[in-house]
Amino acid sequence: MRYQKPKGTADILPGTVEKWQYIEEAARRIFKTYDCHETRTPIFEHYEVISRSVGGTTDIVSKEMYDFKDKGDRHVTLRPEGTAPVVRAFVENKLFGPEFQKPYKTYYMGPMFRYERPQAGRFRQFHQIGVEVFGSSNPATDVETIMMAMSFYKDLGIKHLRLVINSLGSKEDRQTYRQALIDYLEPHFEELSEDSKKRLHDNPLRVLDSKDRKDKVIVENAPSILDYLSDESAAFFKQVTDMLEALEVPYEIDHRMVRGLDYYNHTIFEIMSDAPGFGGAITTICAGGRYDGLVEELGGPATPGFGFALGAERTLITLEAEGIEVPVEDKVDAYVVALGEKTNSEALKLVQAIRQSGFIAERDFMNRKVKAQFKSANKLNATVALTIGENELAEGKVNMKHMATGQEVSVALTDIYSDFTKVYEELLASIN
Ligand code: ATP
Ligand code: MG
Repeated sequence: MRYQKPKGTADILPGTVEKWQYIEEAARRIFKTYDCHETRTPIFEHYEVISRSVGGTTDIVSKEMYDFKDKGDRHVTLRPEGTAPVVRAFVENKLFGPEFQKPYKTYYMGPMFRYERPQAGRFRQFHQIGVEVFGSSNPATDVETIMMAMSFYKDLGIKHLRLVINSLGSKEDRQTYRQALIDYLEPHFEELSEDSKKRLHDNPLRVLDSKDRKDKVIVENAPSILDYLSDESAAFFKQVTDMLEALEVPYEIDHRMVRGLDYYNHTIFEIMSDAPGFGGAITTICAGGRYDGLVEELGGPATPGFGFALGAERTLITLEAEGIEVPVEDKVDAYVVALGEKTNSEALKLVQAIRQSGFIAERDFMNRKVKAQFKSANKLNATVALTIGENELAEGKVNMKHMATGQEVSVALTDIYSDFTKVYEELLASIN
């Protein structure tokens, strides 16, 4: 019997995993400059943590959850996103306490699970890198946090970025707008798609981001949420756009962008890629916004919040679409060519000594002919090859060869064991 991985999942193998590590390291490096530290939450959570935060009428909760009853009859779910778990951890660990710096900034990276129809850039287990910031109502936090995502992409060399923003206003603004939207959509009820018919009363804002072509035409003339913002909310949004301008960051406002998750208010944003490699298609690679009520919703004190999540898979696809090569270092420092079975144990001692000095070492394990072993050394891009045969073993030395130039030296085993770094660097220094 041969098994296959579950649909919508991927094995990330050596050769590819280096690209993952590269973007993860970029994120860690960038986020550190914002004094933002990592949180790791469990892969599964109580179902209610997600359903309460994300909202029962969202696609995530209504159709995409990997939820199940565990053996103790607890309703749990694999996490479909990172914000709800981090907010849960923020409340549970009382990170709102005065001993913690405010705003409290944290990031996460790891797998998320959604039961979706797998297609290009859409998986059932996928990976997000996200940031959450708690405790600041300053619009500078919105802009700073958006910049964390933008700087991450810039650091990777991604250029074709579009930053799209909108404001959902306060809870009250949204309530007024909701009614205005229902009033506008109701006369068109019969023309709406089945999904939008269902959403009209549950979650009318979602009709705005319907992908259905007829819905799109109807929505074209829908009232704009920006006309329903209170003076305060409008002033807040103006500060956000002013600060983006102060930083000379181009942005677009899309008053129809609403985001799928229920917990947002005020500023929301998406970063899209229109890289030529996507062939005219525009892909959302990052999304986020302000969620001022969420900490309270999960039992904490009233605390403003702002965050985003970006897809790791979509970052890799974007790199490819922009033709950016991820530098993958694929070399070993030393290859030990061991000739004759008697050298087996000494070859083991050699690679271990080299590794203890912090170098990458590999050796032959199959007692192959000298030619085959040197072929391996070349294939592995070895800088030096150390040859030990039965004669060398008896004399207590090895032949060390610089692969690129062919320059060779004879080195005492004792010198290697006492200081491989010195031996290695002396050979490299003698070249050129
Ligand atoms: P979409 O409209 O594409 O379904 P979403 O609104 O569900 O996106 P979010 O929940 O905001 O997406 O997640 C943020 C980011 O995570 C997305 O911009 C995308 O890069 C990534 N993402 C979301 N769902 C998936 C998935 N199933 N597979 C791969 N990446 C995903
Ligand atoms: Mg989705």
